[in-house]
Order: sequence, then C-alpha cells, then structure tokens
Amino acid sequence: MESVLAARTPDVAVIGGGIIGLSIAWRLSQRGMCVTVFDAGRAGAEASWAGAGMLAPGGEVEAASNWSAFSMQSLKMYGEFVAELQEESGVEIDYQLCGAVEIARTAEEWERLQARAKSQRALGIASSAGDARAWKAVGALFYPDDAAVNPRDVVQALIRSCLRRGVEIRESERALRVTPAGVRTESGFHPSGAAVLSAGAWSGEVAVDSHATPATFPLRGHLVGADLPTGSLGSILRHGHTYLLQRKNGFTIAGSSTEHAGFDRTLDPEVVRDIDGRASSLLPSFAGAANKTAWLGFRPATGNLLPQIRKLEGCPVWLAYGHYRNGILLAPATAARIADEITSSSEMDWSSLPACR
Ligand SMILES: Cc1cc2nc3c(=O)[nH]c(=O)nc-3n(C[C@H](O)[C@H](O)[C@H](O)COP(=O)(O)OP(=O)(O)OC[C@H]3O[C@@H](n4cnc5c(N)ncnc54)[C@H](O)[C@@H]3O)c2cc1C
Repeated sequence: MESVLAARTPDVAVIGGGIIGLSIAWRLSQRGMCVTVFDAGRAGAEASWAGAGMLAPGGEVEAASNWSAFSMQSLKMYGEFVAELQEESGVEIDYQLCGAVEIARTAEEWERLQARAKSQRALGIASSAGDARAWKAVGALFYPDDAAVNPRDVVQALIRSCLRRGVEIRESERALRVTPAGVRTESGFHPSGAAVLSAGAWSGEVAVDSHATPATFPLRGHLVGADLPTGSLGSILRHGHTYLLQRKNGFTIAGSSTEHAGFDRTLDPEVVRDIDGRASSLLPSFAGAANKTAWLGFRPATGNLLPQIRKLEGCPVWLAYGHYRNGILLAPATAARIADEITSSSEMDWSSLPACR
C-alpha cells in the first residue's frame, strides 16, 4: 500500500518552482485552483535567478515559426503581467521598456544585420537605423520594443503572490516520478488531479508513467555584473554574442557564454575574463566599473532547443520546460497557455477533488 503523505489533495501539482512553474501556479491559483509546487531546492534559485532578463525578440528571432509568434505574444503580455504581479504582491519589479541597440563592426556584419531586420519587420519586429557613430560601429539598429526585467524581482513577486493565494510551496522536495494520480517525491506519494512538469534543465530526470518525455540538458551560461552610474546605459546594447543591460539602480550586466559543462557550478575564470573583455570593448566604462561580480546558471535545453509546452496524450500531465535562453521572456505566455489548457481540459473531473476546494 502506498503511503499518502499529503494533508490535502491539490488540484494541480507543479514540479519545479522557477519562473515557469511559479507563473503557472500563480495563474492557476487565480482561477481558484488548489496548487502545490514541489522544488528540489529553493524556489526561484536556479536559471530564473541567474537570467539577465532581456525581453528581446529583436535579438533572438530570425524567421517565422510557432516560437517567434509565441515570443512576440509573450512580449506583448509583459507590461500587464508585471503590473498585475506588482499590484498583487506589493513587490516592486524593475521592468524597463528600454529598447535595444545592436551594432555591426564590419560591412559583412552590417549586411547580415540589415537582412535579418528586413525579415524581422515582416514578423512585426520593428527596427530602425541607430546611431552607429556613438558606438564607433559600421552600422547600428535600434529595436524600440525590446525590454528588460529583473527576473529576481519577478520570482520574488510570484512567490509572495502564490503564498497569499494559498499555493503550497514545498522546498527541498525533489519529484522523482509523475503518475496520472499524483507525484512521487523523496518524501512519499502526493495525489493530485493534474501535474505540470516545469523543472527547467532537470525536467528530463523526472520519470512520467508510460511516457517517454523529451530529454533535457543544461547549457551553462556565465554573466558578469558591476555598478555603473544610474542611467549611464539607456538601451540594451548588443554585438554578436555580447550584450549589456542596466538595472534601474545602475547595476550593469554583461553576457554571456554558452557551455556544455553539465551541472558544474564552479565559475570558470577564463570565461569570466572573456565576457568582461568583450563587454569592456563594447562599453569602455564597464572595464573600470566597481564591485564586479560573476555568476552562472543552467539554461534548460531540449534536443531541438525548443520549449515543450503541451499536454501528454491520455494523461493529465502537462510539460512546460526547455525554455533555453528565453524563459524569462516566455513566462507570461507559457503560464497563460498551460492555465487555459488545464482549466478547460475535458479529461479532468475537478469535482472528484473536493478536499481542496
Ligand atoms: C546566463 C543566463 C542568461 C539568461 N538570460 C536570459 C534573458 O536575458 N532572457 C530570457 O528570457 N531568458 C534568459 N535566460 C534563460 C532563463 O533564465 C531560463 O529559460 C528560465 O529561467 C527557465 O526557467 P524554469 O522555471 O524553466 O527553470 P529554473 O529557473 O531552472 O527552475 C527549475 C526549478 O526546478 C527545480 N527542480 C529541479 N529538479 C527538480 C525535481 N526533480 N523536482 C522538483 N523540482 C526540481 C529547481 O530546483 C529549480 O528551482 C538566461 C539563462 C542564463 C543561465
């Protein structure tokens, strides 16, 4: 006989309390659902803590696809998402409609940027000629709709809003297996009506009964941050794989790296030096900036580098993982889609779960 440890039966068990799982939990709780979030460590302390927070389809989208449309949709949702979250939680969120400047340093780069911008405009991503001379560049494009958010603020606000709405957040509770009837964690079996697998780069480690779910792996990324005068960098600044953005308080973040290094949490001084050098060549004041610090995180990747946001066939389990380098951007649209699908699912019999209503 299975020991049932949960004091109550939740409507939905969410596995993983990063920005994706917490956004889903928040949206479901707003619809009156009883939600439990299981996190193997501390909620919001992994990729969603590490992320830079660019909300920038202008730097990401190359061609039309389901995901380009989804990115644009999520960007459009961001302002309201932040306003509602701030209002509910009382946590101030650093969200800036700052735009982005992308520069080219050679004629070839400039040609490539312009060609990309042309196809992006057809997708609704606006850009115009930027001030190349200001950045000593051959060419520059300005993306007015790109924005930035501090993901640590978002996560803190989500945790507070979820707790206020009665979401149970169980930390240090690793999920091992998902079944149609609930979730087995290290502490026992927890029945639930539905489950969402949103454990970021670790999602593939959680078994789902009778289903082979897409594997995940971490793509490690380092960032370097330092204090600069407030307002000294207006827009996000990008060149190739190097970018800089500034929080409202002047803290300026430079990125990044993409490494196949497993879950190794040791900072690599070579990578840090490389990012610092590239960022300083782009923004010379970064070289002498005060209080320089570095950190890393594990971007959740799947084989095709695309997110898995869908229900499993014949089983009340939803996947919401693999957001790779755009999980901060994609959180509002992912949460809306999963919450809509769960609340409207004809397979679910919510009335059979009276304990949590
Ligand atoms: C350096 C870097 C820069 C980035 N910059 C940007 C950016 O500018 N813009 C952008 O949109 N995105 C960016 N990203 C990507 C973004 O941070 C991620 O896509 C996003 O945070 C993923 O969120 P998540 O909730 O899926 O995963 P995570 O935040 O990693 O959360 C997963 C959670 O699941 C928990 N967990 C793991 N295993 C289990 C288990 N078995 N049971 C229960 N819980 C479990 C973990 O403890 C963790 O809390 C960046 C990422 C990095 C690393």
